[in-house]
Formats: sequence, structure tokens, C-alpha cells
Amino acid sequence: MLKSKRGIIYYDINTICSDIVCFTAGGRDFALSENQNLSDNYANYRVLTDVFNFPSLPFTVSQIHSANIYDFDNKDKNESEGYDGIITSQLDLPLGILTADCFSVQLIGGNNIANLHCGWRSIYAGIINNAVDIFQSRGDKIDTAVVNIGICTDCYEVSPGLVGSFIEKFQFNDIYKEKDGSCYLNLRKIIENILKFSGVNRIIHLQRCTFCNKYLYSYRRDGENTGRLLSVIMRKS
Ligand SMILES: [Zn+2]
Repeated sequence: MLKSKRGIIYYDINTICSDIVCFTAGGRDFALSENQNLSDNYANYRVLTDVFNFPSLPFTVSQIHSANIYDFDNKDKNESEGYDGIITSQLDLPLGILTADCFSVQLIGGNNIANLHCGWRSIYAGIINNAVDIFQSRGDKIDTAVVNIGICTDCYEVSPGLVGSFIEKFQFNDIYKEKDGSCYLNLRKIIENILKFSGVNRIIHLQRCTFCNKYLYSYRRDGENTGRLLSVIMRKS
């Protein structure tokens, strides 16, 4: 459901589990790259933290379209310069992922939660399976996944070669459509298929397209200087 508070518009999906806070926020820009208006955007983070009564600012990572997942509980073991996922077992710690057309995916286990940045590159590189493996290595299992806001199939024209790469790698045939000689990739379906194959039974979709909805930031529609949405997940104590 779409709500609004102090200039932040957000899709609230807090009904999924009683101890989980999960939403995607726009209206204000949450981009953290150097060429953006950083001080305004940091102020937006403070407003959001205040509006949602978080104990701290959402923890974010430098996103690079990879399959790397930042382990908040074992910070010394993280080696990369950039990450596109965050996992933690800590309570009251909001995890944030930035998007503008890419999907964010939130994973909820018995003890751990994760937030993933899922554009085609990180999906293809295996970020979802990496997350599943980390949950398993911690003796945990993903009970619920949220496939959040992202670009819809009709708005996501890609090269036939990219579609072929995905079919070859994942063996899914129901992930694209052709129209007037062009190819369109269904990232939402790819994410869902990978999750189902990994044994995740409860998959919740937030069926909103960034490109179709003018009030959501879209890289494809508005170019590289567009803002960024912030998807947050936190487990409450
Ligand atoms: Zn669309």
C-alpha cells in the first residue's frame, strides 16, 4: 500500500512477519554517489530514520552490480571494495539497498535477514544463490522472500544475446517475451524461479514498475542522474 510521510512516499509491506519492518521509499532521493547532491540526500536519510523511528541510519554498501554479500556479523572477513547484498542476524539494524529499475530482494530466515540488489548483472553473477548458501552455512533457512519494486517486462527491452545467456545459465524458458522483433527480459520471473529452485516457498511480490510509475525513480526513463529508491528491511527486537 502506498503511503506518504514528510515527503517520503513508501510501499509498506510490514504485514509479512510481525517482527519485520520492510518497505521501499521514494519521493526523496537516497542516492549516495559522488556526483549527486550528497548533503540533501544525507538529510533525506535522517528524515527517513526519524519517520520510521529507527535506532540508526540504514546501513548501506557501495553497490557495484556484483554477487558479493556483506556479512555485517563478521566484518573482518569482508574483502571486496563493493557489495550488492547485506546479511545480518542483528536485531534493530536497518539494511538498505538502492535501486532505480533494478530489483531489491529481501530474504527472511529464522535468525538472519538479507537485502539484495538484483539487476541483471548481479543476478547473472549468482547473488541469490550466494545468499541462499550463506543462510545454509549459518544453519538457517529462508522462510520468506520479498521481490520488491523493479522494472517490468514490457519496459525492459534487452538484446537477444542477453536473453540467451540467461536461458543457457539457468535453464529457464519462461523469462522473456518477444514483440515486434524485440526481446524483453522478465527479471522478476528470473528472481522468482531461482528462489523457488532454492526451496524458498513463500515469495511475496510488490508488483510496481519503476519505469511505468512516474513517481518512482527510473534509470532507463530519466537517465543516469535520476534519484535512487531505498529498500529497507529490519528485524525488530
Ligand atoms: Zn513498466
